[in-house]
Amino acid sequence: MGTALETYLAQHIRTQGPVDIGTFMALALGHPQYGYYMKQDPFGADGDFTTAPEISQMFGEVIGAWVADIWMQMGKPGFFTLLECGPGRGTLMADMMRATQTVEGFHAACGIHLLEMSPALKVLQEQNLDQYDVRWHETLETLSDEGPLIVLGNEFLDALPVRQLVKSDKGWHERVVAHDDAQGFYFGARAAGPELTALVPEDIRNINGVFEISPARAQFVRNLAAALKACGGVALFLDYGHARPAPGDTLQALYKHEYVPVLSNIGNADLTAHVDFGVLREISAQEGLDCCGPVAQGAFLEKLGINARAQFLMKGAREEQKGDIQSALHRLTHGEQMGALFKVIGLSAREGIAPAGF
Ligand code: SAH
Repeated sequence: MGTALETYLAQHIRTQGPVDIGTFMALALGHPQYGYYMKQDPFGADGDFTTAPEISQMFGEVIGAWVADIWMQMGKPGFFTLLECGPGRGTLMADMMRATQTVEGFHAACGIHLLEMSPALKVLQEQNLDQYDVRWHETLETLSDEGPLIVLGNEFLDALPVRQLVKSDKGWHERVVAHDDAQGFYFGARAAGPELTALVPEDIRNINGVFEISPARAQFVRNLAAALKACGGVALFLDYGHARPAPGDTLQALYKHEYVPVLSNIGNADLTAHVDFGVLREISAQEGLDCCGPVAQGAFLEKLGINARAQFLMKGAREEQKGDIQSALHRLTHGEQMGALFKVIGLSAREGIAPAGF
């Protein structure tokens, strides 16, 4: 017996033919009934993966300081929108708000908005942020453009679907997910037209291998740029990925903290792909945004003062808590942990803003 999503997907493929990897990812994560994010809380020790805000409050605290600094650089507007994309359990937002309590005027000015597609996670966000007035959105289009906008996203872009183009000596094809009763789900191939291969940067177009493109991320960044430009906004995204376009199959499935085959347990395992920050930069520049980074997460958090924050927390901590703080700091910043693979990019549509940490 397969998962509910596997039954649905097999039927879909039987009637409409194999699906590209982007459609596969969008269904596996976001199918309104059976999609991964629709039905569960994927985080933490009992879940499938652990994200930076779930590792330590220090992450949200220093990012809260980053947001407060941007607000000050904007001239402390009396009203602004703070939008988090894909807020998970709401932990980052809760830590940011707690850390900025003493910044005079900041809370009174801040309207909290969350971009979230998962009903299950919305419930958790509501609980964790119950002392604040929070608005939810399913798309950027419903944001109002009153007052400036500050946008954050941690491990949001990696959940947006990628498509996979494969180059061999025979030319290009697109990888698809196919299904038949004898083999179950398997990877197949179909022709890749020039409108797709044109998305592979010219300098690497002749290398044999897999190249991932993400029309979904590109569209998101264009919509984001429009929202930022409408009201003079600034955005910060943290995620794992590469600074320059490069070939490689980075699509991965995680189930209970283990990597599992992408075509197994579909709808019950998380699916992500590395973010191509080079492409994000390029699109942002085309849209007229100023772009900082990408820089490594470790260096970014250190510039924002995470070491001092850890020292401060250790002073008031019991012995065993001290060890936890040290190990969380190590996980977030060390090059062999999340410090180097994770990267940070800042985007601005507002003159005269110098985002901290770059
Ligand atoms: N930022 C959180 C959660 C990361 S997981 C953390 O760091 O812990 C990805 C989050 O993005 C989840 O909240 C998921 O439901 C949301 N998400 C994924 N794809 C989305 C989409 N297309 N639109 C809106 N939210 C999405």
